[in-house]
Amino acid sequence: MFFDTHTHLNFPEFAGDLSEVVARAKDAGVFRMIVVGTDFETSVRAIEMAEKHSELFAAVGWHPSGALDAPDDIRPIFRKLLDHPKVVAVGETGLENQRLRNSGCGAEREAHEKQVQRRLFVQHLHLAEESGLNVVVHHRQALDDVLELMEPFRNSVRAQFHCFVGSEAELRRVFETGNVASFTGILTYKNAGDLRDVFRTAQLEQVMFETDCPYLAPVPLRGKRCEPAHLIETVRLAAELKQIAMEDFGRITCATAQRLFPKLH
Ligand SMILES: [Zn+2]
Repeated sequence: MFFDTHTHLNFPEFAGDLSEVVARAKDAGVFRMIVVGTDFETSVRAIEMAEKHSELFAAVGWHPSGALDAPDDIRPIFRKLLDHPKVVAVGETGLENQRLRNSGCGAEREAHEKQVQRRLFVQHLHLAEESGLNVVVHHRQALDDVLELMEPFRNSVRAQFHCFVGSEAELRRVFETGNVASFTGILTYKNAGDLRDVFRTAQLEQVMFETDCPYLAPVPLRGKRCEPAHLIETVRLAAELKQIAMEDFGRITCATAQRLFPKLH
């Protein structure tokens, strides 16, 4: 049994065949899926989907790539969602340095956008602290800044470092700060030998898996619409890299997900 800990089943790509997608996931051994919101609307949709399907759970938040579209303070509207029994985490939140919308528009606009992203991320950390939930963190080229902003919350909030693709030193920092690294289908890519080497050094109890679907389909499905059933390709390879039986691997990684997200059951 495995959990797909980060999906965007709330995106239009799945509007036509969600029930089949969930059924295929279960056939493949993926029994829980977290549907991650990227703004208010997709967060509400994630909750509605989780109400209809027992296998689905929701994370609610506003993605840093859309930070400029967010209200100045997202807390009032999101606070109301957090008590919902199927909301297991706050996110997707974090920082995105690689694809700043204003990059190339001058240093001033870029600095402003970074500032807005940071403010939005801290608001999510406040929401997590208040509600006792943990966060789902996007950290593209921004690990240091993310860890710096999380530091004041070190006793109350932990994070899933979603789509981890960093170095061995970065992985160690994620673990040393009590957080969890989450791996996608990128682990299976031909040119990801370095990431596989990094993964071999990981503490098994501090890793989780995800598809980030509809993106990042693993080999041999790369380029297709990704869906939770495809998680199996990634975990099969990961179990091989760790030389551990699939069954044990599933048990350990699901327990990690339930420790980080206690409402996931
Ligand atoms: Zn995502």
